[in-house]
Amino acid sequence: MRFQTLLIGTSNAGKVVEMRHALDGLPVELSSLEDYPSVRIPSEDGESYADIAREKATDLARQTGQAVLADDSGLEVAALDGAPGIRSARYAGEGASDRDRIDHILRELSGRGVGSSPALFRCCVALAVPGEVLFVVEGECHGEIAPPARGDSGFGYDPIFTPAGYSETFGELPAGVKRKISHRARALREVRERLNRLLGD
Ligand code: IMP
Repeated sequence: MRFQTLLIGTSNAGKVVEMRHALDGLPVELSSLEDYPSVRIPSEDGESYADIAREKATDLARQTGQAVLADDSGLEVAALDGAPGIRSARYAGEGASDRDRIDHILRELSGRGVGSSPALFRCCVALAVPGEVLFVVEGECHGEIAPPARGDSGFGYDPIFTPAGYSETFGELPAGVKRKISHRARALREVRERLNRLLGD
């Protein structure tokens, strides 16, 4: 399969940085949604991360005529019965900020009298070309939600997530650590292998 350009199909600046790093050096030119200002951002309808990633990639490939990589991810907190999960982006309502979403989780935990909780980040990444989804891969990262929020590296829920084996949050750890061990890093390593095979064919 030949394509010269691969669109990173997300408007989340933090994801763009992580995806660009993970795909650096592949024999394909990376573009971003900034290069397609009239594109309509797909809504997040779907019952699973994989469905939503597939839908986003398919919709953006149709709109732009390009190969598109799209990701859907979320945080699952054991003490909240797996919430916010696929609702992670909308957890504190439309228009909420990362800080609002973090505060909402911490309030929910303290409302249940819970200090900290095991948690899991999940990420699905889909590659689509117009009319066809080529693959969907998944990555996980286990850890813990341990208040208070700490650090301002990364994005989203990073300041409250301490990955297993570390005592600092993704907000505190150097970006290079997250780029090695995160849910997205794991999914993108597989993306890289598959893209190398696809682009070589
Ligand atoms: P979505 O994948 O764009 O739907 O994002 C879901 C929610 O999870 C958003 O609030 C993101 O900020 C958050 N999120 C996704 N990936 C990460 C991550 O790697 N670290 C922290 N938060 C994330």
